[in-house]
Amino acid sequence: MSQPDFAKLQSIIDGALLLPGSAAYESARSLWNALIDRRPTAILQAAHKHDVVAGVRFARSAEMKVSVRGGGHNIAGTASGDGMLMIDLSGMNGVSTDPDNRMVIVEGGATLHDLDGATTRHGLATPGGVVSSTGVAGLTLGGGFGWLSRLHGLAADNVLSVELVTVQGELIVADLAQNTELFWGLRGGSGNFGVATAITFQLHDVPNDVLFGPTFFALDDASQVLRQYRDFAVNAPRQCCVWADLMTAPPAPFLPECYHGEKVLGLMQCFIGEAEEGEAVLSPLREFAKPLGHAVTARPYIEAQQFLDETYAKGLRNYWKSGNFTTLPNGAIDDLVELARSMPTPQSDILFSQLGGKIGDVASHDTAFPHRDVGFVVTPGARWESAGDDEICMRWIEEADTVLSRHEDGGQYVNFVAERDGGEDRAYGSNLERLRRLKALYDPDNIFASNQNIRPAA
Ligand code: FAD
Repeated sequence: MSQPDFAKLQSIIDGALLLPGSAAYESARSLWNALIDRRPTAILQAAHKHDVVAGVRFARSAEMKVSVRGGGHNIAGTASGDGMLMIDLSGMNGVSTDPDNRMVIVEGGATLHDLDGATTRHGLATPGGVVSSTGVAGLTLGGGFGWLSRLHGLAADNVLSVELVTVQGELIVADLAQNTELFWGLRGGSGNFGVATAITFQLHDVPNDVLFGPTFFALDDASQVLRQYRDFAVNAPRQCCVWADLMTAPPAPFLPECYHGEKVLGLMQCFIGEAEEGEAVLSPLREFAKPLGHAVTARPYIEAQQFLDETYAKGLRNYWKSGNFTTLPNGAIDDLVELARSMPTPQSDILFSQLGGKIGDVASHDTAFPHRDVGFVVTPGARWESAGDDEICMRWIEEADTVLSRHEDGGQYVNFVAERDGGEDRAYGSNLERLRRLKALYDPDNIFASNQNIRPAA
């Protein structure tokens, strides 16, 4: 096949078209996960939605597959594909808040940092994730949960409408009144159906300050602390969200120096509400065992949203496995604590994300996100700096996978699937067949192929 006419594409867009060989191309193809090293044929850096339309139409006529880059965070590196046209939306990061109607319109390449920065000025927010450099669209299309989700649901549950460029290169809107089946699929079916150029979300009041921060415990106490954490989670109020992390202690001033660099258990706590009420809810956690250090305090909500940014900064090599748990059986807890003893690098961890609350108010078939009864998503993650550590880190993740598969419930959060192919059965669960029919309608030739891919129904 002859080389597509990229000069022609450049002539009709306002953004940049980057081809291999330039420093700008190299920078644009680099993703959060440094393990990913794919080479798109070209990268279209869209300046606005009409560039996206032009890019999709061009790709179709050139018979190219399209990958979409938002925040570039996906662990499987789905934003990039060898031989594909990458449509990079990172320049389309505008956020327009309408405080009177408690709504916000977010462009397709905005990050949580952009979103929270715009809405919290009005005392408003919508659920997102816990690291602010994550792309809003990528997170939302797969579901999206964070500190607000037990109170206000998934990011996807707060979507009012999606503006989408279809595979035909047409701009359409999907919401509860038009393109309703597509709207269903966009809330959990990830980037399979087109390019979201803008998403409108419902906003909620957030107090300026929330009670937020970690309490650390010794690894030797982790098994019994995690048992109590599991039991605490059952009756925890929805304003409260606690994630546990088996990790290496940071050199934090509130931790005695002798624990810096030791393996520990952290309970990262968030309470959205009155500080006094939050203190009453969260203080029992400090009684689970003798804490090594404690830094739960009233902080601006936006600070809580950025608290973990440095820990999960771009540029390390990353590989992880993830499994859904309705609850945490004692055997799983003991095996995971044992696994933590052999974490291969100080940046590696085993993260327990607490779900439940409002997320579970929605039925599994009401949106494409099926995992409504999940209590915890458990994610052992290896993070490392140099290729020399690839083998030891991969081996640890293989062990982690064995542990998870012994205990997990079978499903997996689509945004945490670390391989680009093969995870769709577990990710989409009982919604997969309906999603396949939708894919056949909206992308029958599977042009949008770089994602947790849904094969079009025959
Ligand atoms: P990208 O890699 O840019 O995109 C990923 C995929 O999303 C693309 O391949 C495409 O299919 C799709 N996509 C992105 N933008 C668009 C668009 N505008 N239109 C159509 N498709 C699009 N998830 C949570 O739910 N909660 C968390 O707290 C959380 N924390 C995370 C922390 C870190 C450090 C990391 C690495 C990930 C985290 N995630 C979390 C997972 C995150 O939701 C996924 O990685 C998600 O894919 C990121 O979206 P992105 O736009 O940044 O990624």
